[in-house]
Amino acid sequence: MSFQNPVFIPGPTNIPEVLRKAVDMPTLDHRSPLFGQILHPALAGVKTILKSETAEVFIFPASGTGGWETALTNTLSPGDKVLAARNGMFSHRWIDMCQRHELDVEIVETPWGAGISADRYEEILTADKGHQIKAVLATHNETATGVKSDIAAIRRAMDAAGHPAMLFVDGVSSIASIDFRMDEWGVDVAVTGSQKGFMLPAGLAIVGFSPKAMAALGGATLQRTFFDVRDMANGYAANGYPYTPAVGLLNGLKMSVEMLLDEGLENVFARHNRIASGVRAAADAWGLSLCAQSPDLYSDTVSAIRTPEGFNATDVVTHAAEAYGVAFGVGLGDVAGKVFRIGHLGSLTDVMALSGIATAEMVMVDLGLNIKLGSGVAAAQEVYRATVPNAAKAAA
Ligand SMILES: *Cc1c(COP(=O)(O)O)cnc(C)c1O
Repeated sequence: MSFQNPVFIPGPTNIPEVLRKAVDMPTLDHRSPLFGQILHPALAGVKTILKSETAEVFIFPASGTGGWETALTNTLSPGDKVLAARNGMFSHRWIDMCQRHELDVEIVETPWGAGISADRYEEILTADKGHQIKAVLATHNETATGVKSDIAAIRRAMDAAGHPAMLFVDGVSSIASIDFRMDEWGVDVAVTGSQKGFMLPAGLAIVGFSPKAMAALGGATLQRTFFDVRDMANGYAANGYPYTPAVGLLNGLKMSVEMLLDEGLENVFARHNRIASGVRAAADAWGLSLCAQSPDLYSDTVSAIRTPEGFNATDVVTHAAEAYGVAFGVGLGDVAGKVFRIGHLGSLTDVMALSGIATAEMVMVDLGLNIKLGSGVAAAQEVYRATVPNAAKAAA
C-alpha cells in the first residue's frame, strides 16, 4: 500500500497526474515526423517561458548540471576568465565546474544568505579594462539558501561598466516559477532543468542561447561532444536529435509548457509568491528566521529556515521522513545542520502547502523545539484567506 504525500524538497517537485501520463508513452520512432510534433512545440514553449524572442533553445538528456556544462563548453576556451559569486552550494558547484574546465574564475565570496552584489560585479568589471572577463555567472535563485539575486541589477552593472562579457544565468530553481526575462535582462545563456518549475522527472537539461552566445560557438575551444549545441541545432533542423532523445520527457515538457502558459505566467508567479508568503508567515510565527538576510532576497520557490543554536536542523528532515513520510530539504554545505528547507515550487496549492507547514510543526514539537502546534498553520491560513485570487473568490 502506498500513502503518497506531497514532497517539500526544492526539486524534484511534485508531478501532476497529467504530466505523469504524458511522460508515460509507447515507443515512437524518433526519426519519424511524429517526433517533430513533440519537439518543436516544447522548444517554442520554453522560449516563451524564457521571455525571449531571439533565443535558441536546446534540450539535452541530462540534468541541470549538464546545462551548466553546455553553457561553458560551447562559448569559452581554456584559460578564459569568468566572474562568479559564491553564495551557496549551487553557485559553489558551478564555480567548481568552471575550475575543472580550466577556466580562470574570479570569485566574489559572498555570505550564504546574501545575494549577488551587483555593485561588486560593477567594480570588478570596470577595473577589467582589457576585457579579460569573458562571462559573468549568476545563480538567479540559490536553492541552498533560499536567496533570489537581482539579475536586472547585474545587467545594469555590466552595462554601467561598459563591459562586453556574456551573462550566464543558472535559473534551475527559478525559471517557470519566478519572473525571468531573458531578453530584457540581456541573458546570454539561461540554464534550467525539467524537475523543478517544469514539474517533470529529472532528465532534461534545458538551455537558451542568445544570438551573442551563438556567435561565440565558433571561437570556443573547450572540449565538447555530447553537449555541442551545433550538433543539436543540426539535429533540430532535421526534426531530430544527434542521438536518441528522451521522447517521453519531451512529451511531458510539451504538456508542461502548455499547462504553465494556460495558467498564465504571471499567475504562476503570483501563485508561487502567495504560497511562499504563507510559508514565511509560518516561519515567523514559529519565531524562526530565514537564511536569506532580507525580504528583498526571499525566494518564492524555497525557504531555508534557521533552527535555534545547538539544534541539528537535519533532524527535522530525518524525523519528518521517518515519522510522517514527508520530505523536506536538508541544509547543504556551509549551512548543513543549521537550516532545513521547505521547497514550495512547481505543482503546489495552498492546501498542499498547509499540510507541509502542519507537518513541520509536528516534527519540531516532537523534537522539543518551543513551538506551538497550529501557530504556523494559522499564520499561513491568514495569508491564504486574504490573498485568494479573484476568480476563486468569485466562485465562492
Ligand atoms: C537543482 C539545481 C541545480 C542542479 O540541477 P541538477 O538537475 O541536479 O543537475 C543547479 N542549480 C540550481 C540553482 C538548482 O536548484
